[in-house]
Amino acid sequence: MADGVMVWQVGQEVVLKKPHPCGGRRWTIYKLGMDMGLQCRHCGQRIKLARRQFDRAIVPDEAETGSRLR
Ligand SMILES: [Zn+2]
Repeated sequence: MADGVMVWQVGQEVVLKKPHPCGGRRWTIYKLGMDMGLQCRHCGQRIKLARRQFDRAIVPDEAETGSRLR
């Protein structure tokens, strides 16, 4: 029940538990889907994460600012 309750939007900012090598932890979502596209807000690099990895990689507390499906 706990899985899949977050709703993500392109342009939304998320925080990952593991910092990018550039030192940034904040990312902007640029693509939604089976693979989530993230752009580092610090260095601008774009990565893709499988949705499942993405769900594990984000910091839930700081993602609370995002929209949550009720
Ligand atoms: Zn970076």
